[in-house]
Amino acid sequence: DVQIVENVTFTSMLLSEFTLAGLISSGFQKPSPIQLHGVPLGKCGFDLLLEAKSGTGKTVVFSIIALEKLNLNNGLQVMILTPTREIAAQICDVIKQIGSHHKGLNVEVVMGGLSVNEDIAKFKKKVHIVVGSPGRLKHLIVGNHINLSDVQLFVLDECDKLVEKPFLNDINYIFSALPNHKQVIMSSATYPEHCKEIICKFVKNAQHICPDSNNILLGITQKVTIVKYNSNIVKQTQNRFEQLILILSKMQFKQCLIFCNYQARVTELHRLLKKSKWPVSLLHGQQEQLDRLNALKTLQEYKCRILISTDLAARGIDGSNIDLVINFEPPFEWQTYLHRIGRAGRFGSYGIAVTIISEGKESQNFKNMLTLLTPTFNLTNLWTDEIFN
Ligand code: ADP
Ligand code: MG
Repeated sequence: DVQIVENVTFTSMLLSEFTLAGLISSGFQKPSPIQLHGVPLGKCGFDLLLEAKSGTGKTVVFSIIALEKLNLNNGLQVMILTPTREIAAQICDVIKQIGSHHKGLNVEVVMGGLSVNEDIAKFKKKVHIVVGSPGRLKHLIVGNHINLSDVQLFVLDECDKLVEKPFLNDINYIFSALPNHKQVIMSSATYPEHCKEIICKFVKNAQHICPDSNNILLGITQKVTIVKYNSNIVKQTQNRFEQLILILSKMQFKQCLIFCNYQARVTELHRLLKKSKWPVSLLHGQQEQLDRLNALKTLQEYKCRILISTDLAARGIDGSNIDLVINFEPPFEWQTYLHRIGRAGRFGSYGIAVTIISEGKESQNFKNMLTLLTPTFNLTNLWTDEIFN
């Protein structure tokens, strides 16, 4: 009954007083649907497959479950893997916030790109929860720097990404290094067909929690804007750039994320926009790790209004003021499209996603891609409000 669900608060979920206090001081009162269904089953110890669109509170689900399982007298009990270091840092913040009333709780992030020795030193103290990138965690396990014998919960956030090539070997290694008897939680907004089989290897009889009947991103208005095609890539980029300036000048937004398919284009756009005095920062994989974390921090602290990024920022990044996402060029896969535009409209807020498309082949490809996504997508042309066809 909808009525009952609407009245449920975290208080009715019989959580520990510490977790509850943490949720309330974080401003969380009512569980989202994925939380309402996922938390109780996860607390019971079931393996979970969390499937819900971006920004619906999946991170909070496994954060609560992790905290509820902890015995602070023991050592490492929870290991959380993520494909990007930025998401790892963000998850750590969420757990620390919700866990702020668990006295003595220690959560650490370990990630490639920062000093290995510093990461090793973190385990000289008692660590209860570790969040990290697969490569660095494997490194620490191989070097015998972490005691895994108490680990009872293994989480793969953005799991469809994690079971792909660059990570899969490390994930397999870590999975087998952990105790046999453990709970596994997988989380993502998208589960493409080709990863389902691998995912099933990690979770036995998982409870599939999927409160959305589909993946349409409610709260996000999707628009396209069409530019002339030019076979000369420099001129084509120039066309897109002019359109981008138009969008930025005409549209109102609190914060905006601009996605490009290539690092070189991120750098180029950043230079051009900076030259015209737009308040921009940039984020891509070739940056120093600290610069990457800084870029994210300035965004979350509302010190930068426009962030240009590769798909590094497409997943998981949570900026509550992002209300405009611009695809400088369409991504190659519909999953990426979903994750990108999911950066706007987090947790019920309202956002707009604009994709800049060139006439001809690109616009046809984009349309085909979206038909895969959902046959009923509702896309309009940014300037004319006509249906894109
Ligand atoms: P996901 O992992 O599904 O993308 P997150 O867990 O990162 O989503 O949550 C998205 C945003 O919603 C975050 O800013 C988070 O603080 C907020 N949020 C999550 N759960 C709640 C809740 N129950 N009440 C209010 N805000 C919430
Ligand atoms: Mg998430």
